[in-house]
Amino acid sequence: MSEELVRNYLENNHQLKLICNKQEELRKQVLKQIRELEYDIYQPRIRALYDERDAKIQELREKKDEKISDGDKQIDTLLPVISKVDRIIAFLKVKIVDLTIADTAVNTYGDNYCESLGYLFDDEYLKIKLFIAENSKPKNKYSLIAIGRCTFNEHLCKLPYSYGLPTYEHGWYSLKQQIIDRPTIKELKEYLQKWKTKILSQLTGNFAEIKKEYEEVLQTYTSKDFEALKQYVCKKCGFFYTSKEISSISIRNNVTCPNCRENMVKIETGR
Ligand SMILES: [Zn+2]
Repeated sequence: MSEELVRNYLENNHQLKLICNKQEELRKQVLKQIRELEYDIYQPRIRALYDERDAKIQELREKKDEKISDGDKQIDTLLPVISKVDRIIAFLKVKIVDLTIADTAVNTYGDNYCESLGYLFDDEYLKIKLFIAENSKPKNKYSLIAIGRCTFNEHLCKLPYSYGLPTYEHGWYSLKQQIIDRPTIKELKEYLQKWKTKILSQLTGNFAEIKKEYEEVLQTYTSKDFEALKQYVCKKCGFFYTSKEISSISIRNNVTCPNCRENMVKIETGR
């Protein structure tokens, strides 16, 4: 019995080795085939397809960029006239309002000291008044405050406008500035005397240029020159919106004149 068992053991062991060797051979062979398929046959084809795709995409992008850049160049030649007319119209629409600033316009909190120093700048299109106002600081307890009103809105004329002043004001202002703080009123007034010109030039910003441009526009054009651009007109005061302006205004039922609250009339134009 035991002899047969040993024989079977040896025989089976032999067969097992044969099978394992074949399996190993098969694995190696197929792995080789797989590598060939992967690296020798398909990878170059796939790479070639990627390259072909990338080249086509690149070509499309380059053509698009070229056309966009051509368009931008054309736009650059169109824009100056558009900007010029938009600006002229903005100037023609400037509303002349009373810019007077009362000596009581600025108020301080509690019993804090407040004094008007009068106008630093007094022009028909811009008024700037200075005030001394006591603040809540322990040492530099007096502030030199400037407030101003300008006919031109902030899109046309850039004026300093800051929040957090130690004062409160009634009404609308185009300019608000806390110029400097000093321990005494006397020092503040001395500072003002010494630096008046510099303060003035800092506060008025580009006003002088804008005023010049405005007066030139008024000498050269009237709103009648731009009839063809008017899309909505107020029959009462003549105020108008161009089609470009109206596109940025949300219209519910009627377009109302901002000056007299009348319903504006729509003008049918070719464009
Ligand atoms: Zn009106």
